[in-house]
Amino acid sequence: MNIARILMGMSCREFSEHTSEQHEHPTGWVMRLRMAWHRLLCVYCRRLAQQWQSIRRAIRSEPVQQAMPEAMRKRIRSKIG
Ligand SMILES: [Zn+2]
Repeated sequence: MNIARILMGMSCREFSEHTSEQHEHPTGWVMRLRMAWHRLLCVYCRRLAQQWQSIRRAIRSEPVQQAMPEAMRKRIRSKIG
């Protein structure tokens, strides 16, 4: 198995697609490795991944009794998958 070939060649577009899908569709180790490598090399995708993480954390930790309006929640969920 050629490890360099596995790691290389991920585009920012591919990275961002998998970043937004990762939450509901866990990716295999090859894809995780490729994403980790791309994140290492690409400052933009590193920032993107951090933003996804903080958005998800904010939504998950949101108290039920202070839930945001349903319309707003749907809008955000449709954006982040
Ligand atoms: Zn990138």
